[in-house]
Amino acid sequence: MTSSIAPQSDFYRDVYFQPIQRRTDFENNLTKHLDWFAERGQTVNMWWRDDDAVSPSPELEELLVFSEKFNVPISLAVIPKFATQALAQRLKSMQTVHVVHHGWQHVNYQDKGRGEKASEFGRRRSSHDMQVELLDGEEILRDLFGALFVPLFVPPWNRIAPLAVQLLKQQRGYGLSAFTWINPFRIPQVQSHIDIIKWKKNKQFCGWGAAKKRFDLQLCRRRTNAKEPLGLLTHHLDHGEGCSEFLEVFLKLTCEHPAVVWRSSYELLEEARREVSLSFGQV
Ligand SMILES: [Zn+2]
Repeated sequence: MTSSIAPQSDFYRDVYFQPIQRRTDFENNLTKHLDWFAERGQTVNMWWRDDDAVSPSPELEELLVFSEKFNVPISLAVIPKFATQALAQRLKSMQTVHVVHHGWQHVNYQDKGRGEKASEFGRRRSSHDMQVELLDGEEILRDLFGALFVPLFVPPWNRIAPLAVQLLKQQRGYGLSAFTWINPFRIPQVQSHIDIIKWKKNKQFCGWGAAKKRFDLQLCRRRTNAKEPLGLLTHHLDHGEGCSEFLEVFLKLTCEHPAVVWRSSYELLEEARREVSLSFGQV
């Protein structure tokens, strides 16, 4: 008797029960982390960056709906060369959206044959070419998006050469947003930290287990530096299986938890600017 029901039991455990259990584990774990901050009267600053926007699409619409439904600000990293009037029209009435500056045309200039990682504003570009593109990009985005535009530069593939950072510093009020905390540049930074996509596996959701580990790492770090914003990174055009479910679960949980303060890129860039001036003042 036991052996005849074993396969069915395994089937339910592997295919049905485990994913739900992993999701519950993730929710419980995240709640415990956030409770730790709440019990100490502390909060965690979160922000949301979504990359590669150029025009309205059903995929982008889903994220805009989430943003409004949960009242969570979203910063769309828009590619200037291909940004459309239709996108500007769609965003005009939104209260929870800002637009940040995503490269120029999202083209790689690095040499893959030499094992170089992709970058649009990398070491192989001339200062002149990059400067023209940075200035043109800012002009286009300011014209299209007006008050929604925040001068935060998101380099495609999250990689940028020191020369391009120097150019950004000459562009008034600009900050930089890449991935994780590895860039040592002296420029206001608002980093992203948790990418929800497993890029090498059909661009599906990275999984509840992997997401749990990523939040473990980031939220443990925030225990000694609660001020550092925690950036969620999404790419609406690449969201494979599981991404929508994760976003809905995650946004719902965090928007209801008292320890989470969802911030806009506008506010965080202002704060980052103040911190940079303070640190310059101390040198
Ligand atoms: Zn991109």
